[in-house]
Amino acid sequence: MDRFDNFIDGRFVPPVGGAYLETENPFTGKAWALIPRSSAADVDEAVAAAARAFRSPAWAGISATDRARHLRRLGEAVADHAAELAEAEVRDNGKTYKEMLKQLQNTAEWYHFFGGLADKITGEVLPVDAKDHLTYTRAEPLGVIGMITPWNSPLRLLAWKLAPALAAGNTAVIKPSEFTSTATLRFAAIAHEAGIPAGVINVVCGLGQEVGQPLADHRDVAKIAFTGGVGSGTAVYVSAARRLAPVTLELGGKSPNIVFADANLDSAATGVAAGIFASGGQSCVAGSRLLVQREVHDAMVERVVAIARGLRMGDPMHPDTHVGPVATRPQYERILACIAMALDEGAHLAHGGKPLDAAGPGLFIEPTVFTNVSNGMRIAQEEVFGPVLCVIPFSDEEDALRLANDSAFGLGAGVWTGNIGRAHRMAAGLQAGSVWVNTYRMTSQIVPFGGYKASGIGREGGADMIKAYLQTKSVWVNLNDHFASPFGPVQAAGVQAAGRAQ
Ligand code: NDP
Repeated sequence: MDRFDNFIDGRFVPPVGGAYLETENPFTGKAWALIPRSSAADVDEAVAAAARAFRSPAWAGISATDRARHLRRLGEAVADHAAELAEAEVRDNGKTYKEMLKQLQNTAEWYHFFGGLADKITGEVLPVDAKDHLTYTRAEPLGVIGMITPWNSPLRLLAWKLAPALAAGNTAVIKPSEFTSTATLRFAAIAHEAGIPAGVINVVCGLGQEVGQPLADHRDVAKIAFTGGVGSGTAVYVSAARRLAPVTLELGGKSPNIVFADANLDSAATGVAAGIFASGGQSCVAGSRLLVQREVHDAMVERVVAIARGLRMGDPMHPDTHVGPVATRPQYERILACIAMALDEGAHLAHGGKPLDAAGPGLFIEPTVFTNVSNGMRIAQEEVFGPVLCVIPFSDEEDALRLANDSAFGLGAGVWTGNIGRAHRMAAGLQAGSVWVNTYRMTSQIVPFGGYKASGIGREGGADMIKAYLQTKSVWVNLNDHFASPFGPVQAAGVQAAGRAQ
């Protein structure tokens, strides 16, 4: 079995405690590598290295132009190694190679985009009333950023944090998911080869409780940027709150795809099926609730089920495969438990619902469609993070908005309609961080992404988001030779005025 080590201060180092965890390939269902089972001691080492790098001449001492150059080189290195990194991710999480390759190619763009901003970070001179003062702001980096990433799109979701953080001059300690650590370790080495100085990017692998938690608790970590589920996100938020550290949290969703009777139904069905079955539903913005206007309910279900039937599941490396396996064994079991729960609640199974052993030796579940679902059922409220679609009928716009917003989450929403006014009315009324009209699941480094309500705090992407990794210092400079006493003339007892001492 291959063995991987942590990446700290520019080199691979074994975990302090010497323990390792097996990592499984979800397609073969077999363990293929060992990753470090690190502890708080490894986190301490990585944070110390990142703190040193944050103050080092090689990073803090370089010009903004050079930092921008570093990010551009990193983007080029990711693009050059996209195929290798995509393959590593497929081995880790079972998503199709086609999808991961596209993701990696786009991931490079994040480093280019934020690299372009690195030398455009400026303060301001402020027109204060006190004319004898020069008053300005400085935008300064925060320090060491702790980054905790999930298993579904490890390097892409890392870039959403790392690109703006580095562009702003911070350094990073990354805790990847225990299920998908190897691509992140390889990425860190590639970044180092591309010239990112030692200690700027560190990776510590292991379990959430044993590595993620000490990272979130660490007093020398200035901010935590987290993507994952609500439970772990809340734990991280509480840890950070205890020491008043800021967070960015990208959490889960139960996103609605809303289809009106006036929509192009074939196009809507393609979008709905892609929204929930692409990546096997293991996407934070999976459109897991299909809200459909009553008069086209049957026509839509028929179309979506027909697409589900036609999806080829199998080897994620094969170019003809549409959907790979579920990424992790616990997730596989959770999806099957959610399907059983929906049946118990009285949902009607229109398609799928079972493991698909014929697709390969690993963890496959059929694309699944439930009808006869009401929005109050647990299957309509809880995130499954798998290929499970709930179909819920609605009567009119008002009803659609009520159902769509009746959720603890608010990450994404799709609206399918031929009526332009309705599209914008819905976009305004939906409580979601992203609304897609007659399209779904679009993201870009240029566009902010994040959640309303329990789907998160803060945004990732968009030029403004570099500010999430900066803090403002205000500087007041007295232009006079003397500080004007607020007391008027005061004879300080026993002290002669400066400059007149004999
Ligand atoms: P988890 O919340 O289980 O894990 C996310 C990361 O947090 C992992 O690295 C995990 O480590 C770590 N972690 C777990 N517990 C703690 C803790 N107490 N303290 C610190 N870190 C901890 O999420 P998944 O990996 O299962 O990912 C799926 C979730 O991510 C879904 O809910 C999905 O919606 C969400 N997601 C959100 C996105 C968004 O942008 N909003 C995008 C993609 C996914 P380990 O796995 O090693 O235990």
